[in-house]
Amino acid sequence: MPATSANKPKYRRIVLKISGEALRNDATGESIDSSVLDRLAEELRSLQKIGTQVAVIVGGGNIFRGLAGARANGTDRTTGDNMGMLATVINGLALMDRLEKAGLECRVMTAIPMDRIAEPFIQRRATRHLERGRIVIFVAGTGNPYCTTDYASALRANEIGADAILKATKVDGVYDKDPMKHKDAKRYDRVSHAEALQKRLGVMDAEAFSLCEANKLPIIVLSMSEKGAVKKAVLGQRIGTLVA
Ligand code: UDP
Repeated sequence: MPATSANKPKYRRIVLKISGEALRNDATGESIDSSVLDRLAEELRSLQKIGTQVAVIVGGGNIFRGLAGARANGTDRTTGDNMGMLATVINGLALMDRLEKAGLECRVMTAIPMDRIAEPFIQRRATRHLERGRIVIFVAGTGNPYCTTDYASALRANEIGADAILKATKVDGVYDKDPMKHKDAKRYDRVSHAEALQKRLGVMDAEAFSLCEANKLPIIVLSMSEKGAVKKAVLGQRIGTLVA
């Protein structure tokens, strides 16, 4: 598709972070909602059409979180985090399967070696895949415990020279207080890194956020359930909250 002002991406290469929770079907209790994967495939297709290179990072919170496991049943934190990272592999493979069935070319790259299942993450190889128009799915977070997939997003985004991180969650942006608990919560359209930090807006965990701030990486927080939201964000249209 030729680039016109209407479909010219503002961001040439992005990291799309999808929280594990965004994959869950709350109504049925299924960890991975098939219809979310289908929608995601269509969103990603629309990004490919406008020529944006996409690396996806999936969380694992719909299946397991190390800290929660430690609190709930005393699972050793490192073991729990390893379990959490494996949960992201399960989600990533589910996404890979769906993207391929939708006719989209993709590669799964893992931070924890498991060469029968996925390629190892090698920065140069990842950028090569992206340049060739493949969607790259990064799984197993950073490969280290005591980290999150938000941190992995910030890290990988810097490593592959992404222009922005799109953080897709169940909430449609960054609010001054929890919109689930407070009816008068106000959503920000745009906020600077410094203001988000100062007001403790909780865009990402502190380590992930500071990596983005230090490298002036824009973050767009948007809702997974809003059709077309990802493309709008990539085109630079107003959607969710822009942290820049
Ligand atoms: N995790 C980890 N290191 C990483 C990324 C993830 O140990 O680099 C573990 C951690 O236990 C985390 C879980 O994997 O709780 C799932 O990731 P996350 O909580 O970031 O998923 P999300 O909240 O996005 O669904």
